[in-house]
Amino acid sequence: MTRGPSAVADLHATIIGGGLAGSEAAFQLASRGVGVTLYEMRPYKNTPAHTTGRLAELVCSNSLGANSASSPAGILKQELRMLGSLVIECADRAKIPAGKALAVDRDIFSTFVTDAIETNGNIKIIREEATEIPRGASIIAAGPLMSGKIAEAAGEITGARLSFFDAAAPIVTLESVDMSQAYCADRYGVGGGDYVNCPMDRERYEAFRGALVTAERAVANKYDERARYFEGCLPIEVMAERGMDTMRFGPMRPVGLADPATGREPYAVVQLRRDNAEGTLYNMVGFQTNLKWPEQDRVFRMIPALENAEFARRGVMHRNSFVCAPAVLDGYLRPACGGIALRPDLFLAGQITGVEGYVESTAMGLAAALYMHSVLLGRELPEFPTATAIGSLLRYLKEAEPSTFQPMNTNLGIFPKLKFSAKKLSKPERCAVYAERSRNDMEEFMYNILGRF
Ligand SMILES: Cc1cc2nc3c(=O)[nH]c(=O)nc-3n(C[C@H](O)[C@H](O)[C@H](O)COP(=O)(O)OP(=O)(O)OC[C@H]3O[C@@H](n4cnc5c(N)ncnc54)[C@H](O)[C@@H]3O)c2cc1C
Repeated sequence: MTRGPSAVADLHATIIGGGLAGSEAAFQLASRGVGVTLYEMRPYKNTPAHTTGRLAELVCSNSLGANSASSPAGILKQELRMLGSLVIECADRAKIPAGKALAVDRDIFSTFVTDAIETNGNIKIIREEATEIPRGASIIAAGPLMSGKIAEAAGEITGARLSFFDAAAPIVTLESVDMSQAYCADRYGVGGGDYVNCPMDRERYEAFRGALVTAERAVANKYDERARYFEGCLPIEVMAERGMDTMRFGPMRPVGLADPATGREPYAVVQLRRDNAEGTLYNMVGFQTNLKWPEQDRVFRMIPALENAEFARRGVMHRNSFVCAPAVLDGYLRPACGGIALRPDLFLAGQITGVEGYVESTAMGLAAALYMHSVLLGRELPEFPTATAIGSLLRYLKEAEPSTFQPMNTNLGIFPKLKFSAKKLSKPERCAVYAERSRNDMEEFMYNILGRF
């Protein structure tokens, strides 16, 4: 697709990890004339969640979250589009219908990213596991499932590393869904009826919850006790365990999803979201799980429309790693001691910096690349405006309380407050104001600081 300008002879950077952040960083540097060596260990060595050799593979959901700038996640995408993000451009091209969300055909999406990187004359891909931190200018973007050796090396540089456990949702084939017991609808009728909804009455819901709580899990109990889940990605069985109605207020929330057969909202609902362009695969929204595979078949087939479900992929649960950014980074994604970078030309990028999510990880790849470019040119590091989503994430990584630090999605809570009271505005209206402010500040940043528009 894109061929970067010829690499300036002495500008070079090494990137470890060709995931979302690493691919974005490689593209951004290459398009500024920097020669990039990108290490990606797949397909020769896989992580527990990746299944292909493609760059920027999505390991779980095929949704990149809300798309419109009337949501915080949409504001982040707006900024990435303005900054020429490869990942978002490829997502826009691989988009499939999913209401207000930017969902993609995962294979088409990662093929677009892979092609763009492979055909970029400034990028050399080395399909090998990196086992140590390179000496020269480097970005570590090896992700939450980074291989052991690089994890050890990164751990040594950054000091203590936090780990917790994350879970991925099962995918079913549409033809195995009993559509006589399901219906297509988006919440509150917004969208083109892209979700398949499997309704449940109270009796079946309670039986289902009971089965979830007692089903056998794949992780040994002592490990489970130590596990720390990211609250936004709780396994469904852990949610079930927390209370009779926890799932009904979470992924099984029926509000705004009236069943056309009865005209009423069901007691609970399991939503299925399209997972590929052909519309043959659907993932179970919010059903990340760590149940043993035969148990998944048994328990999830208790859902009325899924009695004969064929699982194209079972749910899985994995290690997740990130650094305690406010304690070990310098505010510019560089490993630091007492806030002072250990090396001026070594950056972390992606999920390991302490952000959470595909788009947030991409944003941290883009930011690391812009910082690296400045270092290579001997310029001051650019300060992202704090009223932007990217600036707010970076500020969170710098200023969050280290003792309770948790990975962060983009949300209005991390943006600086508006200068006027917005209490009377609805959330989308408030978001629109934040989006406008972010756009203005990002335009100014691009013009005055990055010198390009
Ligand atoms: C199981 C799981 C499910 C998740 N589900 C979601 C979700 O549904 N939605 C969401 O928004 N976020 C999700 N996340 C969080 C996060 O958004 C993704 O993990 C995202 O892919 C992170 O992007 P990244 O670029 O930091 O890492 P990755 O995309 O994982 O990229 C890292 C790359 O580095 C490579 N690598 C690792 N070690 C080495 C090495 N030593 N040498 C060379 N290459 C190496 C890997 O093969 C991989 O390609 C999930 C995370 C996990 C672990």
